[in-house]
Amino acid sequence: MRAEEHADVLVLGAGIAGLSCASALTRAGRRVLVLEKARGVGGRAATRRLDGQPVDHGVAFIHTEDPELLAHLEAAAAAHGPDELIDWPLRVEGAGQPCLPRAFAGRERRLALRGGLTVLAKHLSAGLPLRLGQRAEGLRPGQIDCDNGLFHAPDLVITAPLPQALELLRGLPAQPELHSALELLRAATVHPCITVIATYPADRPAPAWDVCYPEGGPLALIAHDSRKRAAPRCHALVLQASPRWSREHLEGDPARWSADLLAAAAPYLPHELGAPQGLQAHRWRYARLDGASQLAEPLLIDLGGGQRLGLAGEAFAWSGGVEAAFHSGRRLAQRLLVGPHKRDL
Ligand SMILES: Cc1cc2nc3c(=O)[nH]c(=O)nc-3n(C[C@H](O)[C@H](O)[C@H](O)COP(=O)(O)OP(=O)(O)OC[C@H]3O[C@@H](n4cnc5c(N)ncnc54)[C@H](O)[C@@H]3O)c2cc1C
Repeated sequence: MRAEEHADVLVLGAGIAGLSCASALTRAGRRVLVLEKARGVGGRAATRRLDGQPVDHGVAFIHTEDPELLAHLEAAAAAHGPDELIDWPLRVEGAGQPCLPRAFAGRERRLALRGGLTVLAKHLSAGLPLRLGQRAEGLRPGQIDCDNGLFHAPDLVITAPLPQALELLRGLPAQPELHSALELLRAATVHPCITVIATYPADRPAPAWDVCYPEGGPLALIAHDSRKRAAPRCHALVLQASPRWSREHLEGDPARWSADLLAAAAPYLPHELGAPQGLQAHRWRYARLDGASQLAEPLLIDLGGGQRLGLAGEAFAWSGGVEAAFHSGRRLAQRLLVGPHKRDL
């Protein structure tokens, strides 16, 4: 039977933006429901377990100088024991351009979690009412229609990657403020990323670097993921294809992706590493926002009739990546709390 539930705020998406927004609203006393189509939290801050070993096959590392995000990372790590939060990557190789050049600028710290980046998402989601496996199929003011349930709240917060968010927003009635927002968002570019996880026996020689940025060619980055782990059972590399190569091969054969990307990685790997023992390919259709498409702030639109629509996510803060997603969620929560619907808390 389809569930039907009511809340003060519905947050669509349990990525970092949705969770940071939902956790701030919950702390302020709002009744929040988080709706997520996947079976777990984290969105693109994703970790797979291969034979029990975590592998971050989305975000490779978090960069930030923000004390609030750092405090959350420390709190998330504390529950897992000492040395869970590590400065990573320490050794970077290659003449290629980092995807987010800002990550290596100024006072930015670059961080990873030994248990995988989903440790942060799990920390942010603690105590939140999550409805996993709920794919939103339609939106109306005050309502989100999912494949397994119908959800109602005066405030809706959408944090899906922009192209998916735009698809959902098409169902809302035309209104000038919304129309201008949609025009702005349609101009944004989100790049795809094809990734391949390659694993190798632990007794073979592995590269001495943490991250490599190849110059030119199909690869944007090779993350030596197993160097984040305390006692890795195998060497694990995550090969991330460049936006251009990913776009050109997006509908291709995963076996071909693996072969092509491994061939492109070969000059950067010790010859003795040999052939991988395991390969897993993944297509991120909407991986990263183009830097030129960043907006400064989340959007909050009055839909009339006491209903509002908030938009947050990596596109709605200037810093890019996970840090932007985190900020945009927090900032949107603040705006929802001081808006015309403010209640005595
Ligand atoms: C391969 C890769 C490498 C990256 N590397 C880095 C990096 O090193 N550093 C960095 O800072 N950033 C990196 N990024 C970018 C970073 O992952 C994102 O900027 C950030 O995680 C976005 O968070 P978000 O909450 O805005 O969106 P998401 O994480 O995409 O969360 C949105 C959520 O909405 C859900 N959703 C979507 N549609 C629906 C629907 N219809 N119904 C229900 N739920 C829905 C999704 O399942 C998802 O969980 C990388 C991304 C990729 C893919």
